[in-house]
Amino acid sequence: MDKIERAVALIRSSRKTIVLTGAGISTESGIPDFRSPGTGLWEKIDPMEVLSTKALYQNPEHFYQVGFQMLISMDDAEPNKAHEILTKLEREGYIDLLVTQNIDNLHQKAGSMEVLEVHGHTRSCYCLNCGMEVSMVDMNRILQKGEIPPKCPDCEGTLRPSVVLFGDSLPPCFDRAWSEVENGELLIVIGSSLEVGPVNYLANICKQLMIINLGRTTYDQQADLLIQGSASQILEQIYEKLHGNKGNLNECL
Ligand code: NAD
Repeated sequence: MDKIERAVALIRSSRKTIVLTGAGISTESGIPDFRSPGTGLWEKIDPMEVLSTKALYQNPEHFYQVGFQMLISMDDAEPNKAHEILTKLEREGYIDLLVTQNIDNLHQKAGSMEVLEVHGHTRSCYCLNCGMEVSMVDMNRILQKGEIPPKCPDCEGTLRPSVVLFGDSLPPCFDRAWSEVENGELLIVIGSSLEVGPVNYLANICKQLMIINLGRTTYDQQADLLIQGSASQILEQIYEKLHGNKGNLNECL
């Protein structure tokens, strides 16, 4: 049995499958990940320096000029084949839940129904004082007026992005992701180095682990099945094999 056949067998026999995605699933949509050699953002900037709570509170000018611009630059990206296939697999009942570390909104753009965004999102910002949500359009308007740190239009509290920064704790949906993985039968990790905690710990508590990733991950040795390669190409092969090579993949893409 080759690796694609083993992946299909694992998916078919699992009564509850959770998919965890990372930045690698979106590189084919033109968004660089953090750690890929040569192209990863980590080689150009130190995300700890520009995407941390320390930067937000101690050096807001730098945070908004560099870190925030990086966050909003993902806005124009479109989902790729890998996002689309996951949407299909969810609709067909092969996937029960999608957990993502990504903040790029691409699973939602692809039509995924249930996505736990454990590192937040870039759709809006919120006020640290009253909790009011402010759209990115309004946030940009405030920033363009030179108001740094940006102030809440309602109560003058400080606004910040709804993204989990280095130094933040994780949102409550991470607790749900944890219990779903604990009660699940299969975790498929796609496009993540699994270096960022505590999300990477999900790979420790799952019953069976499948990893689909271009480069190495910290959990390769633990995986029940490791498939190295591009997320879209591997998912396409799995999808076709699941449907006896007759999947109506082209219709959905
Ligand atoms: P990471 O950069 O640490 O790892 C990405 C992994 O994906 C690498 O191991 C790489 O080999 C692999 N990869 C790259 N292209 C691939 C492809 N086409 N197919 C399959 N694998 C591919 O990313 P991470 O583990 O998600 O952790 C980084 C953190 O950075 C996350 O918390 C995430 O929130 C954040 N981040 C998000 C985005 C985004 O939203 N698109 C982008 C950059 C960083």
